[in-house]
Amino acid sequence: MLDTQEYYLNDTYRMAQRQLDDVAKLMNLDAGVHERLRWPRKSIIVSVPIRLDNGTVKVFPGYRVQHDQTLGPCKGGIRFHHEVSLGEVAALAMWMTWKCSLLNLPYGGAKGGVCCFPEEMSIGEQERIARRYTTEILPFIGPEKDIPAPDMYTNEQTMAWIMDTYSNFVGHAVPGVVTGKPVVVGGTEGRVEATGRGVAFTIKRAMERLHPELETPTVAIQGFGNVGSVSAKYLHQAGYKIVAISDVRGAIHAEGGINVPDLLSYVKANGSIVGYPHAERMDASDIFELPVDVLVPAAVANVITAENAPRVKAKLVAEGANGPVTPDADAILQSKGVAIIPGILCNAGGVVVSYFEWVQDIQRLFWAEGEIVQKLDTLMAKAFDDVYALHLEKQVDLRTAAMMLGVGRVAQAKTLRGLYP
Ligand code: NAD
Repeated sequence: MLDTQEYYLNDTYRMAQRQLDDVAKLMNLDAGVHERLRWPRKSIIVSVPIRLDNGTVKVFPGYRVQHDQTLGPCKGGIRFHHEVSLGEVAALAMWMTWKCSLLNLPYGGAKGGVCCFPEEMSIGEQERIARRYTTEILPFIGPEKDIPAPDMYTNEQTMAWIMDTYSNFVGHAVPGVVTGKPVVVGGTEGRVEATGRGVAFTIKRAMERLHPELETPTVAIQGFGNVGSVSAKYLHQAGYKIVAISDVRGAIHAEGGINVPDLLSYVKANGSIVGYPHAERMDASDIFELPVDVLVPAAVANVITAENAPRVKAKLVAEGANGPVTPDADAILQSKGVAIIPGILCNAGGVVVSYFEWVQDIQRLFWAEGEIVQKLDTLMAKAFDDVYALHLEKQVDLRTAAMMLGVGRVAQAKTLRGLYP
């Protein structure tokens, strides 16, 4: 290992590398291809200076990591969060490579972020961060190079600012530089709900195969942002009983089930699930230990660990978030017979519809929502069924099967393209 590679090695990056190493051994992956895939292709560290509303100047560290470009341009979100680091962004970029490959999308993985406290910042401060960060990484992004998207604490508005900044630099409108934009500036129908819709879709498909005897499966969800709330909405619609939900401020519990549309209206008015009158308050850390059928971590990474995994009672864990289950916890859950839908499959709906948005932007031809939802379901169903079939054929867990498919396609393409020069 070289000195510079050490910069990547935080817990999240080690976890992503360990998942790759395990699957490489199992697949007899070519040693050269394996070594190349253990490290990002390119990483950019930038300083993002902005003037705060109080008149002072503050400098925030920003990152963009491009893990691989074998199958096409890089693709991945941008997050604003106080825990953003090079290692975390690099791990997320690697997972994006496997996710895009697994879903048969013509992309490699990337991720970016700015280390800041978005919840304490005004809209104006957030806009200045987004625009200055875009300016700093501008030579590295573009519709043919690297296409950012929203992630934690970034949204449609952030993408509109990025698109506008990039377009001003090149002198004409370039909607295809980011996805997850508002529809009026070249976004697509169906993008806002795509990830949660995909999470609910894979849960239903998994439960049909693993536990067809359960008529009304019970669910606990950590996180009620974009992914958690939309997953809850579609699972509720499908007849699942959502008994517990948490967000950053606390957790609520209702044995008889939470009326999700009603809770959504409450959160819209109050900004949090906390205080919802038709449920009881509970300790947020207990959400992982409830006797439910399905557990959906849809907030942050590293929340199901070796410490709490022995107390998980769910039959199925669906990774709405990226990296919520650590490798040690994964082994404990497997030994208890808990099935896990890995994030690279479970939360892939967002990047699938982002891909549709990019295609529409390039063609300047837009599709109706019904067409998008149908195409999303088709791609998610194919990826799920491929993973499930390989899991049965090779007698491996779903994460290993998903990784084998994701890594396998990239490795095959790498071998065919050869090593430059
Ligand atoms: P978001 O910002 O919309 O929502 C995050 C939610 O998590 C909020 O409800 C917040 O209160 C809650 N939260 C934060 N910290 C928490 C904690 N410690 N305990 C409990 N709740 C906590 O973010 P999002 O877009 O829903 O993303 C959630 C996760 O899903 C992230 O890991 C993200 O990388 C992943 N993801 C998102 C997308 C997407 O399209 N948005 C796609 C793939 C994966």
